[in-house]
Amino acid sequence: MSIRKRLVSSIFICALTFLVVPIAAQAENPLRFIVAGQNLPTLKQHVTDRGGSISHELKYHQAFIAHLAPAAAANLKNQFGTNVLIEEDREVIAFGKPGSGDPAQPPQTEPWGISAIHAVESRAVNRGAGVTVCVVDTGVQPDHPDLAANIAGGENFVFKKGTINPSAWADDNGHGTHVSGTIAALDNTIGVVGVAPEAKIFATKVLNSRGSGYLSDVAEGIRSCLAHGASVANMSLGWSGYSQLVHDAVIEAKNAGMVLVAAAGNESTDVSNSYPAAYPEVIAVSAVDSNGAFAYFSNFGTKIAFAAPGVSVLSTVKGSSYATYSGTSMASPHVAGVAALMISSGSLGFIADDIGLPATQQGAGRINALNTALNR
Ligand code: CA
Repeated sequence: MSIRKRLVSSIFICALTFLVVPIAAQAENPLRFIVAGQNLPTLKQHVTDRGGSISHELKYHQAFIAHLAPAAAANLKNQFGTNVLIEEDREVIAFGKPGSGDPAQPPQTEPWGISAIHAVESRAVNRGAGVTVCVVDTGVQPDHPDLAANIAGGENFVFKKGTINPSAWADDNGHGTHVSGTIAALDNTIGVVGVAPEAKIFATKVLNSRGSGYLSDVAEGIRSCLAHGASVANMSLGWSGYSQLVHDAVIEAKNAGMVLVAAAGNESTDVSNSYPAAYPEVIAVSAVDSNGAFAYFSNFGTKIAFAAPGVSVLSTVKGSSYATYSGTSMASPHVAGVAALMISSGSLGFIADDIGLPATQQGAGRINALNTALNR
């Protein structure tokens, strides 16, 4: 190292030391944590004793959300050990991006993905009647003309203006309505058709108008799906890193017989760290285009169960409109719709077509609605 460089480094270290001392004397910036345990009043007291603040309690979990310095959270965790669950309430994002929109009610067309997975032919076999698919997302437009008859209800978990209004589950983004249309848009004279046009949609709103939310909301949303009798859950969203709270909700839903489907993620990386798709109980779905080619953005890996259409997918959006979106968010609901056909028809399991991609891209293949519905 030259003298000049060493001098620069020394100055830098001195300056840094000078800067660090007063900052270290202050508290760290608080982060958002989930605190779950048996005695919430006591835990809340411990949080406030450590300089934290309480946000709100969860409905389907014995837990609350707190803002707390990471060191204080670690200290709390050490004190209570396995008797409490404390994890950072990390951000969750939607895995789909909007393209063009159309506000008119056009004559009904078959989106390419519906044709590609043979969901046009499967209508003669089964339409998903009697099955409720839970859409864990940004909500759904309840009165969309191409969806309304199939909307069974919803529940909101997004904290807004100091409260959570359970009935505010209408979609203020568009993403959840798009996902819902791929699953169960009506077979009428307008717009599009879903994979299971007679299945019911229950919308748990866990993502806000910008398409983002928190782990705690997803865990709540899954338990709400279960409480409202859904037999399929679609999760076109995700985050990096394991969450115990969400995994516990996933396991409970799976043990109750629910089929859980999730988008693999759009980071063009291995799905193994993209949750909820990475949970062993969840069906991870990658995206392909209309030529059967693997989508450049799609995550991949040995955890992929199936591929499904996820590029330039036409479906319903808020504002009684239609738009093309791309993302693994669009692929997942094709499989969730097929899950509804599978359950409604008493089929023995999913059937997919080998479209010639590596197993790490297509899993067992591109999902096939007709053959799944016929598999009795
Ligand atoms: Ca329609």
